[in-house]
Amino acid sequence: MQAALDRPNLISLAAGFTDNDTLPVAEVAALTRIIPRDALQYGTTIGLPRLRHELLRRWQKQDDVRRLTADDVIVTNGSQQLLYLLTEVLCDPGDIVLVEDPTYFVYLGILEAMDVRAVGFDSLANLKTKIQKLKSRLKLVYLVTYFQNPTGHTWSLEAKREAFAIVKHYERAAGHPIYIVEDAAYRDLRFEGDDEPSFKVLDPRNERVAYTNTLTKPFATGIKLGYGILPPELMRAVLRSKGNHDFGSANFLQTILARALAEGLYERHLPKLAAAYRRKRDAMVSTLDATFPASARYERPQGGLYVWVELLAHIKTGAKSRLFRRALDAGVLYVPGEMCYGKDPSRPIPQTSMRLSFGAATVNEIKKGIRLLADALS
Ligand code: PMP
Repeated sequence: MQAALDRPNLISLAAGFTDNDTLPVAEVAALTRIIPRDALQYGTTIGLPRLRHELLRRWQKQDDVRRLTADDVIVTNGSQQLLYLLTEVLCDPGDIVLVEDPTYFVYLGILEAMDVRAVGFDSLANLKTKIQKLKSRLKLVYLVTYFQNPTGHTWSLEAKREAFAIVKHYERAAGHPIYIVEDAAYRDLRFEGDDEPSFKVLDPRNERVAYTNTLTKPFATGIKLGYGILPPELMRAVLRSKGNHDFGSANFLQTILARALAEGLYERHLPKLAAAYRRKRDAMVSTLDATFPASARYERPQGGLYVWVELLAHIKTGAKSRLFRRALDAGVLYVPGEMCYGKDPSRPIPQTSMRLSFGAATVNEIKKGIRLLADALS
């Protein structure tokens, strides 16, 4: 992000910024014309009741689970804060978290800072093998289940059901709860196909699944609010910790979002985003098709912000590689795939992939950026 801000002419296919043109500027201006007095006052640690109520209602429509209440919903400073708090309350130094291989690299940073080991798995069979060995120090399984950062992959309900059964089975041997932290940050950024139910539908008693989501990506990253739907004992622990961090997210921002949701503005905004990101995805994938070597492997994501490209084994993509430097000299930046793997010595870290984001760059910049990358590659 800093590199992109420091060099305005650099085409950043790296940073997780969102599309500038669709930011709801006029809508937010209208929403702030009248400011209720309580918006400028401290609120509560768990968050503004009317926002939590709106978030619950929206999620209930998505997942059709009726039993929970707004007391199960917490608002945080982006979902990033909630990921931090959940890990902080569940893990001690030396504990283990199972993550997808590859996964969201900023979450890996949290684990590293807390001296928690990230163990990666890349298939359900692999999850089973790893979990068998780890159960005693394993505290949670972290999964980015919609248009994953970095691969763009979405979990099917069947895969979720299987993963949940595996975790439940081995939890008995562990002798303590093993939670699933489901990071649904890109759920609302779907531009094709149908929504999938979350892990919450598999946990009707609200015991083991901590669901995190965000309003930053689908509305405005500058309104840095996320939220979670948590089992009660996790909620209590997270609230204690958030109380120490900041005793509540900004009431002003929560007021804006509560109104955006209540007045239907949020819902109306999503199709605009979908259209913009679909165009950008198409620009990226069609330019990759036209310019990248036939050996490069990538998929066409149905949502989110990322295309994950895997190159041939002898083409290294890391931050110290010739390709990365060539690309930077040519004025284009990507995320080296190696950053998205936990430091798990039981397997080598793949060195030949890259994460390309179509979020922030314009359609023309995307086309130009991919062409520059293809030149650097050849
Ligand atoms: N989870 C994932 C997978 C993400 O990609 C991001 C942002 N890049 C976050 C969580 C955190 O986003 P925020 O704090 O803006 O909600």
